[in-house]
Amino acid sequence: MLDYLPGLYLRRFAIKLMEVLRKTEGMSNLQDLEKSQWHSYNQLEELQINNLREHFMWCEKNVPFWQKQFAESGFKPDQLSSIDQLQQLPLMDKSIIREAGDTLFPTDGLDRQRRPKCTSGSTGIPLNYYLDRKSHSFLWGHIWRAWGQTGYKPGDLYATLSGGSLLPEHVDFKQRIYLLLSGCLHLPSYHLTEKIMDEYCLNLARTKVGFMYGYPSSLELFARYVNSKSESIIPAQAVFTTSEMLTTEARSEIEKAFGCPVFDIYGCNDSGLYSFECQHHNGFHQGMESCYVEVVDDDGNCLPDGKIGRIVTTHFANRSHPFIRYITGDVGAIDRSPCECGRGLIRLVNLQGRERDFVRTEDGRKVHGAFFNHFEPFYSNSWIERFQVYQNSVGKLEVRLQVKEKPDQGAVDKLTEELQEGLGKMEIVVIFTDEMELTSTGKFRVVISDVD
Ligand SMILES: [Zn+2]
Repeated sequence: MLDYLPGLYLRRFAIKLMEVLRKTEGMSNLQDLEKSQWHSYNQLEELQINNLREHFMWCEKNVPFWQKQFAESGFKPDQLSSIDQLQQLPLMDKSIIREAGDTLFPTDGLDRQRRPKCTSGSTGIPLNYYLDRKSHSFLWGHIWRAWGQTGYKPGDLYATLSGGSLLPEHVDFKQRIYLLLSGCLHLPSYHLTEKIMDEYCLNLARTKVGFMYGYPSSLELFARYVNSKSESIIPAQAVFTTSEMLTTEARSEIEKAFGCPVFDIYGCNDSGLYSFECQHHNGFHQGMESCYVEVVDDDGNCLPDGKIGRIVTTHFANRSHPFIRYITGDVGAIDRSPCECGRGLIRLVNLQGRERDFVRTEDGRKVHGAFFNHFEPFYSNSWIERFQVYQNSVGKLEVRLQVKEKPDQGAVDKLTEELQEGLGKMEIVVIFTDEMELTSTGKFRVVISDVD
């Protein structure tokens, strides 16, 4: 099959076709978002209050979980006039969502074409959730808006160098069609050997892809390899990184390899948070049009601007599975001061929640931490509450599981086999524990590696 469609006009048409197949309205969403980002902060805040009020009134009418919560906390959605009133509502985390089960689904019987998603975010707690057509459209609108500031238009060729949360290693037929229609060259980053990176270099030179998208760690690894070969800058117009912390070293290494600026993007589908760096690279402009963000202390009290705390979101575009004051598991601060670019969107700054490591295999592969975040058996086995993997020697992996009830040996053996299928020959030790290891700053990490 073709890697990409030749001809820009054909690809512009292909994007429209993809939207029909995917049942999204990202293009029309993008048009609105490109305008609203230039609204003043006050206009955007007013839009948020109006949207939140309407969303909460709808939740009260149609979602049993919220009916109960609003009644218990004395919250009156129709009287919402100030953002501060949200603090009457409790925070919610993944375990509350799991416990709430079907009571968090609307009872109005409307078909919102919801689609299942799963995540563990940076918390290691598996969560299955749903996005509906509207929120899925916003997702694409926000991504395309972030990319659009560099001249990207939907249909332009781009390459992804990434693992599971952006694209799985082996894409199925339907995903192949989507990739073809969206002008995406898929370069999986699970197993970045020199041979594979050579192939990627050739592929990128041949296709003349203008934009790169991927994990900072994968792009950095690839960029270091490119930079180690004297003749080979791979020219691009912009590189977009996401899902992990982008270090200063990684940014400069990537910029050197591709000869263009890097724009970091911070978002997570479960929270509805989509934010991006502008050309001033001074934080992440947050997509206020579909999601309200708070930064709170451990008791759920809002912190003043600039103070670092827990990032909590209310995604008011998603009505298939509405989360209100959802703890994302990430930490950062809000900056409402005007940005030189002129956008009225607030900025998230000092983000401290997106680190992942690689796991090393005996055959020299580096398996990205996202492999575990999207490892299906962690989600389908309902006895697993939380997971963490630890490696201190190549070829051996400790899988730590916090469980609801201890499974039989057969289930553990099956899980081990499934992990070995993805990781290759590797000794896997499953350990049951009640407490997961935290970093010195108290942060949870899905992968901990002590391998140099
Ligand atoms: Zn800006």
